[in-house]
Amino acid sequence: MNADAAGTKLASQKIAVIGAGLAGLTAARILQKHGARVKVFEKGRGVGGRMATRRIDEGRFDHGAQFFTARRKEFSDQVNALQANGVLGPWQARWGHKGPGGLTSVAIQEPRFAGVNGMSGVPRALAQGLDIVLNAGVTDLSRSAEHWNLECAAEAETSGYDTVILAIPSPQAVALLTGITDFATEVAAATYAPCWAVMGNFTTTLPIAFDGITLEDGGPLRWVARNAGKPGFSSQEENWILHATPDWSLANIEESAEAVRDFLLDDFACRFGVTDAPSHAVAHRWRYALVLASAGIPYFWDPALRIGACGDWCLGPRVEAAFDSGLALARQVLGTAI
Ligand SMILES: Cc1cc2nc3c(=O)[nH]c(=O)nc-3n(C[C@H](O)[C@H](O)[C@H](O)COP(=O)(O)OP(=O)(O)OC[C@H]3O[C@@H](n4cnc5c(N)ncnc54)[C@H](O)[C@@H]3O)c2cc1C
Repeated sequence: MNADAAGTKLASQKIAVIGAGLAGLTAARILQKHGARVKVFEKGRGVGGRMATRRIDEGRFDHGAQFFTARRKEFSDQVNALQANGVLGPWQARWGHKGPGGLTSVAIQEPRFAGVNGMSGVPRALAQGLDIVLNAGVTDLSRSAEHWNLECAAEAETSGYDTVILAIPSPQAVALLTGITDFATEVAAATYAPCWAVMGNFTTTLPIAFDGITLEDGGPLRWVARNAGKPGFSSQEENWILHATPDWSLANIEESAEAVRDFLLDDFACRFGVTDAPSHAVAHRWRYALVLASAGIPYFWDPALRIGACGDWCLGPRVEAAFDSGLALARQVLGTAI
């Protein structure tokens, strides 16, 4: 079906997209562009999911996704368009690697991008023009008279949807899909590792000659980064992000945020010779952070029930995978417009 024909058929359709991360926003934009009446339901107070930025008086921290690469044409086109509009830019940093033998410099093979107004600026730009209900965690789905009805915490139109798209992490999708569609079992096979993240603001420049360091030295940290060098961030902001390894995060998943913050900051100080204490520090737990086992297909779709699921967990632990998955499911919905 060509896009015009799909648009004609979609014009009368009401579509609910659950989740306003990159996958959900990508799907919603395409479907709306082709004429569907799309409403996005987002559990959080803002859009973007794991493309997140925390703001404090002393500056900003990207505490979820650190950067992204663009390998396929469609995502490269999207990145180029957003870069032309000043939404994102290349993160030109001094990259390092810390192994058992010490700290060495790393040359990267492809550009690494980040949002100019913080990482969350990218999904915020993509959300413009969409009908999004925030603080609207969807807790149940049901069908009546061939339409979908949603249950959610917010005041919003929750009934009479022709199509539902879930763009949320697989464990959360399974909770809504079980007993509804056969593909729930396959979704359950896609798993995540958690990640504890610590944000620390320092009043002096730390004696570390790199801005983004991958650690494989047997300790609890897998990544540390100085946010100051990111596009649009002030060089005065000596804000550091520490990410724990998946194993350490899992072993300490129920630990208090204060205990995690103190332990990981101590470890960071020991490993990098940091003697100053941070002026502000906080820990954040990402329960579903990085895809461990992906589904290996771009999306799930039940044509009889007109319900689908997408997200990074379909393809891999990357921002681009979330985009690809949302794009592929939207095209499927377009191709089978009722
Ligand atoms: C610590 C960390 C570091 C990372 N580093 C990188 C990196 O450097 N490079 C890279 O490419 N990727 C990285 N990633 C991965 C990247 O962030 C994700 O792949 C991508 O953002 C996933 O997008 P998504 O739309 O699939 O899911 P999400 O961003 O998780 O979006 C899902 C949305 O659904 C909402 N939601 C969930 N349940 C419900 C519900 N019941 N009702 C309504 N809304 C709901 C959530 O609030 C969320 O906003 C990192 C992730 C983390 C956590």
